[in-house]
Amino acid sequence: MVSPGELRLVETLIEKETFEPEIAENGSVSYSEAAQLLDDADGAPAAVLERFAARGVLASEFVAKVYVCPECTAEGLQYTTVCPACESAHALETLFLEHVCGYAGPETEFEAENGYRCPDCEMDLESVDIEKQEHYVCNDCSETFDIPDERLWCRECLSTFPPLDAIEHVLYQYSLTPDGKRWLDRQKDARRTAAETLQERRFETEIDATVSDDAASRSVHVLAEDDLMGERRVVSIHETPDTESVDAFCAFATSVGAHPVVITTSGAVSKDVAARSEDADLTLLAFEDGTLEPEYEIVESVEAAQQGLFQRLTAALEVPGRKGQ
Ligand SMILES: [Zn+2]
Ligand SMILES: [Zn+2]
Ligand SMILES: [Zn+2]
Repeated sequence: MVSPGELRLVETLIEKETFEPEIAENGSVSYSEAAQLLDDADGAPAAVLERFAARGVLASEFVAKVYVCPECTAEGLQYTTVCPACESAHALETLFLEHVCGYAGPETEFEAENGYRCPDCEMDLESVDIEKQEHYVCNDCSETFDIPDERLWCRECLSTFPPLDAIEHVLYQYSLTPDGKRWLDRQKDARRTAAETLQERRFETEIDATVSDDAASRSVHVLAEDDLMGERRVVSIHETPDTESVDAFCAFATSVGAHPVVITTSGAVSKDVAARSEDADLTLLAFEDGTLEPEYEIVESVEAAQQGLFQRLTAALEVPGRKGQ
């Protein structure tokens, strides 16, 4: 189903180019603007955006990867090299000299009053007799090595760990696709048509209304009220209604004393939902060619119907001689 919050979210992308990712204080990826548009029941904004991207309604574009501490999830990790023997970061690049006699050691060992002297054979050295090389020397365990180990350390909790242990977050930004625009228009047309149809029957209607029962507030696509007759209806727009969300919607409608109206914008419903509408507690309508009809196609599974819908949308968008997106 598409929730009122999700429709608000996708609709915002007509004016606004993209939803940009941010790194929250706890290190997780957040989309604060998207979060403000969604209702609590919609769940995490990142998951909602990703779901619409998977369906082709939104396009996701890679922005960057960020890494957070595996211990405390803080951002802003620092790079350091460490001693491979004792993991101390106090391992420093040091200039080594090697004498022709075979002795090698840090430059400081060779320093004498007038130039260099080999600490082993005690010869004064000519520059031709020595070779210079850089090595790492650990100041904690005195290990000498050429290639240090690499670590990241966390400025918050000071833990040190191999770079691959850092938790990777991939940041995407999301924008509306041409397919998504068509999808959005269809959901909005269905919603508007439902409101207009109810207005013709003397209901006062409100689009994207908040309705509360004893337990919670919930957004509905259309709320219709006829105070004179004491009648109330709530409308839910679905691409292809599934049993679980229809049952939840019907239960909510009952709790607020309203009759539930479910609209399928794909023209299809699952077998279970069709069976449910046989009793009078649910009105099930299909949105086709700008009007609401009581006839709908019955499909085995919602997944199959959604794939079918999407193939139709994609096929309709393909222009000969140009590759489809
Ligand atoms: Zn940390
Ligand atoms: Zn020597
Ligand atoms: Zn060491």
